[in-house]
Amino acid sequence: MLVVRQAVVGPFAANCWVAACSRTKEAVLIDPGGELPRILGLIEQGDFQVRRIFLTHGHVDHAAGAAEAKRRLGAPIQIHAADKEWLAQLPRQAEMFGFEGGGEVPEVDHWHVHGESFTVGEQTAQVLHTPGHTRGSCALWFPGPRLVFTGDTLFSGSVGRTDLPGGDFGELQRSITAVLFPLGDDARFHCGHGPSGLVGDERRSNPFVGEDARRGRFV
Ligand SMILES: [Zn+2]
Ligand SMILES: [Zn+2]
Repeated sequence: MLVVRQAVVGPFAANCWVAACSRTKEAVLIDPGGELPRILGLIEQGDFQVRRIFLTHGHVDHAAGAAEAKRRLGAPIQIHAADKEWLAQLPRQAEMFGFEGGGEVPEVDHWHVHGESFTVGEQTAQVLHTPGHTRGSCALWFPGPRLVFTGDTLFSGSVGRTDLPGGDFGELQRSITAVLFPLGDDARFHCGHGPSGLVGDERRSNPFVGEDARRGRFV
């Protein structure tokens, strides 16, 4: 089984996730956006062994605590290379938005690409490149439990903003409709902000990318 734990961190209330194999306790830490003591608390409580730090994208609210998390957990960091520039800007972003003690540029150990997979204990996870919110935005899909971590690409009833550098609404739309929706209506998603949901609900009624919106009813 895949066990999922959540902490809502930082001034933008970003969702940080720990996804662990219930048998081996091996885990992946997703988007440590700050408030490391709380994240480390979750990991200790579950007695999890974090083997990787996965960044869905390079924005400060998802990556501010990555360097410290790596130091504390001894786990390698991975992200898509197209978000390198965002990581380089972490100190500036952190200062601008008031992230306490965060914003250190992390040393990246692995630049992941679309389609590659890794194991988390007995679970398999697959990287899906979903550009649009940022050029390097990626989702992490667990085909066993049919669960996907979408970062800031798809939210419950919304989508990520595309007005920042590297953002592109057409790309975002394509990523969601061509990469995330095909995972299946019954797939569950955990996103970068706000509540989790079902892919099928967004396929039908998401006001930006759902069927109704694409028919023009909300344009
Ligand atoms: Zn973002
Ligand atoms: Zn965010």
